[in-house]
Amino acid sequence: MELSTLTIQEIHQLLITKKISSVELTQSMLNRIHDVDSKVKSYVTVTDEVALEQAKRADERIAKNESVTPLTGIPFAMKDCISTRNVKTTCSSKILENYVPQYNATVTNKLADAGAVLVGKTNMDEFGMGSSCENSAFFNTRNPWNLNHVPGGSSGGSAAAMSASLASFTIGEDTGGSVRMPAGFCNVTGIKPTYGRVSRYGLISLVSSFDCIGPMTRDVYDCATVLEHIAGHDEKDSTTYQSPVPNYTQHINKPINKLKLGIPKEYFVAGMEAGVESALQESIRQFEKLGMEIHEVSLPHTKYGLPVYYLLLFAEASSNLARFDGTRFGLSKSDNAKDVIDIYLQTRREGFDDEVKRRIMLGAYALSAGYYDAYYLKAQKVRTLLRRDFETALASCDLLLAPTCPTTAFKLGEKTNDPLAMYLSDIYVVATNPAGVPAMALPCGFSNDMPVGMQLIGKHLDEQTLFQVGHAYQQVTDWHKKLPNL
Ligand code: GLN
Repeated sequence: MELSTLTIQEIHQLLITKKISSVELTQSMLNRIHDVDSKVKSYVTVTDEVALEQAKRADERIAKNESVTPLTGIPFAMKDCISTRNVKTTCSSKILENYVPQYNATVTNKLADAGAVLVGKTNMDEFGMGSSCENSAFFNTRNPWNLNHVPGGSSGGSAAAMSASLASFTIGEDTGGSVRMPAGFCNVTGIKPTYGRVSRYGLISLVSSFDCIGPMTRDVYDCATVLEHIAGHDEKDSTTYQSPVPNYTQHINKPINKLKLGIPKEYFVAGMEAGVESALQESIRQFEKLGMEIHEVSLPHTKYGLPVYYLLLFAEASSNLARFDGTRFGLSKSDNAKDVIDIYLQTRREGFDDEVKRRIMLGAYALSAGYYDAYYLKAQKVRTLLRRDFETALASCDLLLAPTCPTTAFKLGEKTNDPLAMYLSDIYVVATNPAGVPAMALPCGFSNDMPVGMQLIGKHLDEQTLFQVGHAYQQVTDWHKKLPNL
């Protein structure tokens, strides 16, 4: 039995019936990481000591049958933009290369309280800026399905680690598709919850009004399990919802027939890879067989999604990243510095790579006097229209179906010299973030031997329907069970 490929649910059974211990499981996962990850390069840091210590404590909890949760003893990895006390948190940036947080993110604390075992921190595009993981300042992560292809981004390390069975679940972060797009490229399930469902405290901000932390897992059931444990109100993040977190897994088997599935017509247009389009059409037929009603809907402002998303991202990111000033966190360059401005300039010149600098400059421009109204304010107004598009479409339907990306995973290097082509690969995932609605990615087929992902997009705070529908789909298909041959 290959432990690393099991679902959380399966491992939980083995743990509570004492067929395996968390220490054995964790050690075998760590061994696998040390054996296989030199090919995939999904981890920035592997936390052997922390993991074995947490696994030992998980085994004690299980032995005493004390506060055992479905995550107790389960090895997981976390995107390297989420703070972990005493464990480096780099955002895959030179500016934070040696930064060790003094506190945990709320999500880190919640997972530790549930008894989950942290095996490491995963690679990403620097500060979450990218769609291929090639903007990591450290190294490229590779797609386990074909090592010459990208895993997607920015949570490429979390998706690749999950796909290569180098963790039993991973945590990603999604500002504009960073969970869903790599999940689609790597054949894993992942959710961007409703904005405000999961606390952002301790997440190193990219765009404070878009950022969402979400799990990546082997299947929808596991995704629901992890979200149940990390979601909820947090007094340290005033944007979190007060409303209680539903017990998603308890209701996951509710019937889905008669639910209305909307197909946004603007998402099924020329430019989509033929194999992606046919996989999506096949899944629509599958939902029809499951008794759902299929309706065409319109999201009329779709064409503004990408420019609005990127404009607002540049603006918010440029002000968020101002905190990396050479005096507070991480790198500090002060060679013969004349004054504090000199420290600021030297540190940022050396600490940030090109894509980050490009976005900071564009953001500063969009926010500057004279341009603010023309760019930032205008984009905020169109953001309202994007949100209304989803509200209107979801008033007549229970959820929407869309691709995660117009293509399957592209080759390493294919888009690195063309930032606009890179931004365009986000076309189907970015609009949900300005709108705040939840969206889940799940495997739905293959095109030219590479995985295809679909997205289910729901109403605010209605992750439950996404889980029910996704789970029903995974009961009658086995795309999510397919693993790469490493
Ligand atoms: N591709 C998006 C970007 O480059 C991803 C952002 C994210 O979700 N962190 O902005």
